[in-house]
Amino acid sequence: MPIKFGSFCANEFKNNQTVRPHQLPIYATSSFEFETIEEGIDIFKGNKKGLVYGRYGNPTMETVARKIAAMETFDLDMTAKGIMTSSGMSAISTLFLSLLKSGDNVLTQGNLYGGTTELLKKVLAPCGIAPMFTDLQDLNQVEQLLRDNPAIRLLYFETPANPTMACVDIEQLCALAAKYNCLTAIDNTFCTPYLQQPFKYGADFIIHSTTKFLNGQGNSIAGVIIGRDLELMEKKVWVAMKLMGTNCNPFDAWLVNNGLKTLAIRMDRHSENAQQIAEYLEGHEKVARVNYNGLPSHPDHLIAKKQMRQFGGMLSFELADGLEAGLRFMNAIKLCTLAPTLGDVDTLVLHPASSSHINVDRDLRLKNGITDGLIRLSVGIEDVEDLIGDIDRAIG
Ligand SMILES: *Cc1c(COP(=O)(O)O)cnc(C)c1O
Repeated sequence: MPIKFGSFCANEFKNNQTVRPHQLPIYATSSFEFETIEEGIDIFKGNKKGLVYGRYGNPTMETVARKIAAMETFDLDMTAKGIMTSSGMSAISTLFLSLLKSGDNVLTQGNLYGGTTELLKKVLAPCGIAPMFTDLQDLNQVEQLLRDNPAIRLLYFETPANPTMACVDIEQLCALAAKYNCLTAIDNTFCTPYLQQPFKYGADFIIHSTTKFLNGQGNSIAGVIIGRDLELMEKKVWVAMKLMGTNCNPFDAWLVNNGLKTLAIRMDRHSENAQQIAEYLEGHEKVARVNYNGLPSHPDHLIAKKQMRQFGGMLSFELADGLEAGLRFMNAIKLCTLAPTLGDVDTLVLHPASSSHINVDRDLRLKNGITDGLIRLSVGIEDVEDLIGDIDRAIG
C-alpha cells in the first residue's frame, strides 16, 4: 500500500482529543475531506453543515468572523453573522453587489472613504446602480429623498467620517430608512465595536476594514461584513462572496485574530492620547482649527457622545499658514510616520491636500473641509508626551 501523502500527517491528529492548540491554527488548506461519498453529498446539498472548499469558508476565517460578530452584538439581545473578505473594499463591494441590482439606488454622503466614492462612481454606476450623494445630517432632506425615490434600497454611511470627523446620527438615519423599507449599512472602521455598536441603533449591516484598528499592527489587509438578517447573510452575502471570490485568506485572518486580543487596551490608549493631543493643539496659536470628536468645540460632539463610548484615535487639524506650513510640518515630523493608512499602534500622519486628495478639484476639496493646511493624525499608543513633543517641534 503506497503512503497516502495528503492525509499522512493529518490522520495522526484527526479526532485526537489531546491535540487542542492554545492558539488559533492557520488552516492552510484549499479544501476539506469527506469521510464518505454520502457525507459529501449531504454537505453539498446543504443538508449537513461542513466545510468544502477554502473559498467558501475556512476555520481560521470563520473563527475571526464570529468573534467580530460577537463583539458587534455584545450585550445586545440579538445574533449576527460575520463573513471575512479580502479587504475593506471587498467587504463594501460584496455587500453592495449582493443586495443591489440594476435600477436600484444607494443613498449616501459626499465625504465617504475615497475608495468607496470611487467604487460607487466607477464600478456600480456603470452597472446601473446609481449612487445619490447628500448631506446625511439633514434628516428632512434624507426623508424627502427616501419618500420620493423608492428605488433607494440601501442607505450607506460612515460616522465619524474622514478627515473632519463629521458625524451622523445612526439611530435617526436607521429609523428613517426602516420607515421607507430601505436597508442600512455602516462602515464602522474608525470606531470598532469597542467604541460604537451600530446594531444597537438599528443598523442592518456593518462593514469594517480590519486592516485598520481591528488588526492594529498594520500587517494585513482584510475586511468583514456583519449582518443581523441571518437568511440574507447566508443566501445573498455569502453566495456573492464565494462566487465573486472576495474571500479572505487564513494568514491575514490569523493576523487580525492576534490584533483583536489587544483591541480594548489599544482603543483606550488611542482615545486618551488623541484627547490630550487635541487639547494641546486647540491651545496652539499656529493651529487654526482642530477636528476631534472629544472636543466640545467639535460641531458633532453631541452626536458622537450619544453613540460612541470614547472618541477614538482619529483627528485632524489645520495649520494657520496653509499649504506651505502643511508641507513643512510633514518633513519636520520625526516620531510620527508619513503613511497613507490609519489605525496602527504607531502614530501616522497624512497631509490630504498633497496626497489622498491631490487629484480632487480644490474648490470641491475646500467645500468638504479639506483645506491646504489640514493634517490628519491617526494617533498611536506611544507615550503622549513624546508625541506632543514631536508635533510641537514640527509646527515650529
Ligand atoms: C481603509 C478603509 C477602507 C478600505 O479598506 P481596505 O482594507 O484598504 O480595502 C474602507 N473604509 C474606511 C473608513 C477605511 O479607512
